[in-house]
Amino acid sequence: MRDVATGYNDAIEALRSDEYPMLQDSVYLDHAGATLCSKSLMDDFARDMTSALYGNPHSASWPSQQSTARIEDVRLRLLSFFKADPSEFDLVFVANATAGVKLVVEAMRSLPLGFTYAYHEACHTSLVGVREEARDSACLDDPALQSWLERGCLPEPNCQPASATLVAYPGQSHMDGRRYPLSWSGKLRRRRPAASPRVYTLLDAASLAATSPLDLCDPENAPDFTVLSLYKIFGFPDLGALIVRRSAESVFSHRKYFGGGTVDMVLCGKEQWHAPKSQFLHERLEDGTLPFHSIIALDTAMTTHERLFGTMEQVSAHTSYLIRRLLGGLSSLRHGNGRPVCVLYTDATADSGCGPVVSFNIRNSAGAWISLAEFEKLATLKKMHVRTGGLCSPGGIAAALKLEPWQMKNNFSAGFRCGTDSDIMAGKPTGVIRASLGAMSTASDVSRFVEFVDEFFVETDPVPPCMPSLTIASISKTARLEVQAITVFPIKSCGGFQVPKGASWEVRPEGLAWDREWCLVHRGSGQALSQKRYPQMALLRPSIDFNKGVLLVEWRGGPLKTGAASHITVPLSANPSLFDSTRRQMPSRVCGDEISPHVYSSPEINDFFTNALGIPCVLTRFPPGGRGLGSRSTKARMQTYQQCAVKPQHVLPGAFPEIPSPPESDSEQPREGKILLSNESPILLIHAASVDALNREIESRGGPPVDGAAFRANIIVRPAAAQGEDESPLAPYSEDAWRSIRIGAHNFKLLGACRRCQMVCVDQDTGEKKQEPFTTLAKTRRFDGGKVYFGCHMCHRPPKGERPSGVTQCPTIQVGDPVVVDADE
Ligand SMILES: *Cc1c(COP(=O)(O)O)cnc(C)c1O
Repeated sequence: MRDVATGYNDAIEALRSDEYPMLQDSVYLDHAGATLCSKSLMDDFARDMTSALYGNPHSASWPSQQSTARIEDVRLRLLSFFKADPSEFDLVFVANATAGVKLVVEAMRSLPLGFTYAYHEACHTSLVGVREEARDSACLDDPALQSWLERGCLPEPNCQPASATLVAYPGQSHMDGRRYPLSWSGKLRRRRPAASPRVYTLLDAASLAATSPLDLCDPENAPDFTVLSLYKIFGFPDLGALIVRRSAESVFSHRKYFGGGTVDMVLCGKEQWHAPKSQFLHERLEDGTLPFHSIIALDTAMTTHERLFGTMEQVSAHTSYLIRRLLGGLSSLRHGNGRPVCVLYTDATADSGCGPVVSFNIRNSAGAWISLAEFEKLATLKKMHVRTGGLCSPGGIAAALKLEPWQMKNNFSAGFRCGTDSDIMAGKPTGVIRASLGAMSTASDVSRFVEFVDEFFVETDPVPPCMPSLTIASISKTARLEVQAITVFPIKSCGGFQVPKGASWEVRPEGLAWDREWCLVHRGSGQALSQKRYPQMALLRPSIDFNKGVLLVEWRGGPLKTGAASHITVPLSANPSLFDSTRRQMPSRVCGDEISPHVYSSPEINDFFTNALGIPCVLTRFPPGGRGLGSRSTKARMQTYQQCAVKPQHVLPGAFPEIPSPPESDSEQPREGKILLSNESPILLIHAASVDALNREIESRGGPPVDGAAFRANIIVRPAAAQGEDESPLAPYSEDAWRSIRIGAHNFKLLGACRRCQMVCVDQDTGEKKQEPFTTLAKTRRFDGGKVYFGCHMCHRPPKGERPSGVTQCPTIQVGDPVVVDADE
């Protein structure tokens, strides 16, 4: 067995570089166990398409007849692939598995008394939605379904009788890989008390068929309706199929709608009559033009799949071998204190078996859940492509995570949405990490993934990481820092503008003057463009020219199309005539906040950015002083790990535990600070000593040091020249414990550490994405459920109760200003 498995695996490893060049340095474990499209398949398809003339079917021309003939051959070939006898089954081509479900529902709801619906809790969202069309529905867990199979009665429907009952379940859960017996279909159908309505079964085989044979050779026990995603099996084309047992065909005679190509004759006008095509079910259900190029491609896809991977039995054996290694690898990972790292939701010992899908969550050595968003940042950086979240598996996720409906509703009202950042709610994960394997997966994919989890999530040190403690009183008043650099980022996510030495720069309540006042938004979605997705934004370099009163923006990236400008100037004045007042205010989103910025109307300006980035976008402005959707507030706050940094060192035995007043408590928090388009807070500060320390760490791990610019800070401070580099109170990362500082004549309040993502890996000079510094940060600066911090948020604190002076009325700072960390807070 082992030899067979490794022999096959070697063969797949060998074809990988030729057939899947795009996987070169990626580990692709997404797609519900699907197979990817190979190079051979694309080449063979291109050859087929360019060597014969295929026309739109439903016509008498030769090219049209040729298409029709191919389609019928492919239909038969696909039926045989599932060992389905064409006299017992018909196959309908649909867009995807979901479209197949909808065809069945459309027919069932047209039955004279409608239908009742029962679905297994492991069902995909696309099958859960069916309940909205049913008279009554029930979600069944395993025991409920088992008792139905044994006792032959449905959980009591509590409404008027319906014409039929539809029961749906997956052949394999796409969430945890658990398999469900095909034999249920026949049993459920037969387990019907005499007087009750007919039971139809719907099998969702989308995940199952991707990597295992689906055998419909026994029509007595086969499902009435089977839906499939063909792209999950063959990698291409994007097609689905609905296989219908002929003895269940009559359901469709109630379907009302008819589309082009499905009728023999239609009368309109004085008399309304039509005659549906009568020979085959698929002729009546395939409305309009068939996706004939795709169906022809399917023929090629089946041939190529067989050539590369052999039979589905072989694919199944291969993926089972791999999933055992993956499950074994993940479940054996242990923290230094012996606790397991992964909590697996996949049960490899389930009676009916388990497909090549594993879902899990990660806990740190102290038992806290690692946030999925944080996991994903690292996975993306390391090109480990997995899926995280709710996976379109509402029932499966709720059961695996033991989430009660009230908890899920609480989470929803607390702001949780599918795909958002806050995924640990009330101490419980709201989703899972899923890794799934396909025919083209290999043992090295599996080991690389396990090594990745090992490298970043196993804590060998038995003490969980916490900040080195530093009591505020120990900060010496004589230790001095100075401002090394001041940078503003006039356009959010684009390059920075270095404030020249000797220039005084104004500090406003919202941040440094001119910082993040502009932003590029996608012309279609209104979404703010970010370097995280478009690293080339770093190559748009703005500078501010007060003499001319303009913001000059230069493109320092690759060649532009002929005639396109390589730079542009935008007036600093917010003259209303620059903005588009005619079009409806476009709502935009910046970091989840809905805002309405002013949109520039100049085609010259918008074309410059669109051409440079290759993304349809417009420039918008968000001037200070707005209200409502014209304003935003800071989100920065002290992080839990920072609170532990200032815990008193000695507590008298028997004394009351000290309860620190949290910095964000109402008594201390001034009204929420306003910000412009920065992500979280008015001003971002970093400490040069921390950059140096991080670079020493990166270099000790063999990586290249990074430029401090990667952190896109507004202010970089460094120890003033006269002092020794490592003078302890101002040592690297001491900024985590600072609560307020003075720069020149002005006070600033620190608002908490800055949470980082893989955007720090964009080289601000070249726009390239690298591995560092996030990789090392993730290993040395990860706290609080896996969040990575570097640098601090802060805001200016205007003097209270003093008579305003020329200095305080327009506060400014400049490079070289002395910086003092306040010791008396
Ligand atoms: C992928 C999948 C679906 C949805 O299939 P589509 O082709 O996207 O409609 C449904 N159920 C399962 C089990 C799946 O894996």
